Amino acid sequence: MIAELVTTGSELLLGQIVNTNAAYMARELNRMGVDVCFQTTVGDNRARMKEVLTHALTRADIVITSGGLGPTRGDITKEVSAEVMGLTMAQNEECVARLKAHFARVGREMTENNLRQAMIPKGAHIFVNHAGTAPGVAMEKDGKLLVNLPGPPSEMKDMFRRSLAPYLVEKYGISSIIFSRVLHTNGIGESMLETKIDDLILAQKNPTLALLVRPTGVIIRITAKAENEAAAEKLIAPVENEIRNRLGSFVYGVDEEKMEEIVGRELKAMGLTVATAESCTGGLVASRLTDVAGSSEYVKGGIVSYTDEIKANVLGVSRELLAEHGAVSEPTARAMAEGARKVLDADVAVSTTGLAGPGGGTEKTPVGTVFIAASGPKGTVAEKHSFTGTREQVKFRASQAVLVLLRRYIRT
Ligand code: ATP
Ligand code: MG
Repeated sequence: MIAELVTTGSELLLGQIVNTNAAYMARELNRMGVDVCFQTTVGDNRARMKEVLTHALTRADIVITSGGLGPTRGDITKEVSAEVMGLTMAQNEECVARLKAHFARVGREMTENNLRQAMIPKGAHIFVNHAGTAPGVAMEKDGKLLVNLPGPPSEMKDMFRRSLAPYLVEKYGISSIIFSRVLHTNGIGESMLETKIDDLILAQKNPTLALLVRPTGVIIRITAKAENEAAAEKLIAPVENEIRNRLGSFVYGVDEEKMEEIVGRELKAMGLTVATAESCTGGLVASRLTDVAGSSEYVKGGIVSYTDEIKANVLGVSRELLAEHGAVSEPTARAMAEGARKVLDADVAVSTTGLAGPGGGTEKTPVGTVFIAASGPKGTVAEKHSFTGTREQVKFRASQAVLVLLRRYIRT
């Protein structure tokens, strides 16, 4: 079942309002297993709207419009829709009665043009508007369905949920659902990832695979369409296992899970405590670690050592080392982690030192250069990263990288 959404209104074309109706309808239809293959937006212009609706009906089984059901002359969607479907309009007495009752209830006078809303294409199914005045309609012809919903989001949503969704379920016997599993990866780029699972992507049908870049790393979304959730899980499982086999520890989490939750769970399971020494991330790593309920069991504490003075006096990074290598360097990152581990008496400690920008970059150390380290019973490991983005993004990416490093450190 293919659907096309036609959102109407010049405000949308002018960029004065955001098309939240299209997003809502697309999400809900996809959840019901209806494929939204096209979204079109057209202004309040008779000829162009007619063209769009006519075209939509050639390529979709279900065309749903929103907007332009109001009482004024500019509201033409229903009229144009009826014309496209070859239906004449007639005043519907039930709708007139409902309109009159509505105006009586709110104590406002009903004007003549309000009656336009009671004009219904012949044979159309009527959706009562419980959140406003304009009724919605569904018209059928040659196996195609054209639905008009009102524009105000509260009215559109109410009508979609209450009337249209059950109507579609009943009419098309829709019972399939769309179910997704998201695998989070880190430490592997989009193109390398694609190379590793290219054959799976090419062979995809149900489930389908998508690679999406997120601040936390590339995510792989596996989406299945099935009768119900359990059946969808069954379709997803073999593909998920194959991907996990190929990517190994690059996959660190599933669905909504966050890196701090995963690392926290593993620290707790291993009975290890952690401490942080942060420069460029300014406490973000400690903040993320402590976002997790129960983190007091494994987070010892953290030091934001933003200046050389604190790096030296509190963490014990030697002044000679700072002078020789600079604050943003691998030796400093190592010494910071080792110092934090000692001072805060933790099993493992991690550190960050870098240049979040936007200013201060040099040829040797450009903006986005971040050194991270982890130190513990197995010694100290360090990494150099080059991040792009705004100051905030660099900070977040650095915090993510150090949580990933921490996880790898405690697992190997
Ligand atoms: P009204 O009776 O209010 O005229 P209508 O059914 O004729 O309703 P429109 O006139 O097209 O609908 O839109 C009414 C208002 O609803 C717009 O001013 C806008 O605030 C909101 N709206 C319309 N379409 C959308 C959309 N696609 N996404 C988000 N908001 C929308
Ligand atoms: Mg209007």
